[in-house]
Amino acid sequence: MTDIDRRAGARRVGQVKEVTSLANPIIKDIKALTQKKEREQSGAFLAEGLKLVIDALELGWEIRTLVYAKAAKGKPLVEQAAAKTVARGGLVLEVSEKVIGSITRRDNPQMVVGVFEQRFARLDDLSLDKSQTYVALDRVRDPGNLGTIIRTADAAGASGVILVGECTDPFSLETVRATMGSIFALPVLRATEAEFTAWAKRSGGQVVATHLAGAVDYRTVNYAAKPTIILMGNEQSGLPPSLAKSADRLARIPQQGRADSLNLAVATAVMLFEARRHLLNLDQTA
Ligand code: SAM
Repeated sequence: MTDIDRRAGARRVGQVKEVTSLANPIIKDIKALTQKKEREQSGAFLAEGLKLVIDALELGWEIRTLVYAKAAKGKPLVEQAAAKTVARGGLVLEVSEKVIGSITRRDNPQMVVGVFEQRFARLDDLSLDKSQTYVALDRVRDPGNLGTIIRTADAAGASGVILVGECTDPFSLETVRATMGSIFALPVLRATEAEFTAWAKRSGGQVVATHLAGAVDYRTVNYAAKPTIILMGNEQSGLPPSLAKSADRLARIPQQGRADSLNLAVATAVMLFEARRHLLNLDQTA
């Protein structure tokens, strides 16, 4: 266990503390989780807002620390989240608004922030069936794009998002914000390009890569025949030839107008809702 884990309450018997000082070392450690290096070292990340914290707790994510502003004290949902945190051995901090505002540096800070353990699924644990769709993202760089894609993949009923190569951190504050809670609902996986292509070959699925030079209209692919892995290229450079060559189909979304290409998250949404069109209907919508 690292110093950060120890101070931020990892695996300690549940307890509640009051904190008013910005210089408190636990608060400093929590604030440090806005930096990638600290998230990597500690394996933790921040989720802002009561809705996200409740979603995460309901879905069984491991909470290390729950921070709430004094003004939120006594609200039933906050009290329930605090009770769950304590029951699971986490630490609960009741802090001033100045302190909670300093954690995420927002003008209108959320009243509740949770520190959770990161979780990645493993490619080798997946067994695909025909109704499943995965999104694979080649070197996605923009946190807002990644968060939006995770949210969209969740909404379309996809089974997971695979990060191929060096990608932006799915557990950064900005990405988690943009997922609107879907980060807790949808498995995220990581792979090198070689690991991804080897897995895709033995997975029994079809890789439908999207490319501006794709010869196939994306609406003509038979997405119902096999499990589908939709492969999307990097925002600046698109898919490298090595990944494009390894795909079963190279699909294109026809465009008009002056724009060279669609935004990555928008193109992913178009692909996902087409690939899952035969599986989505209004009756299922909650
Ligand atoms: N300059 C990049 C290129 O040459 O590919 C543009 C990349 S685009 C912003 C990001 C990704 O979105 C592409 O790699 C592709 O996967 C997907 N994409 C965007 N517009 C598309 C279209 N019309 N057809 C197929 N894929 C598209």
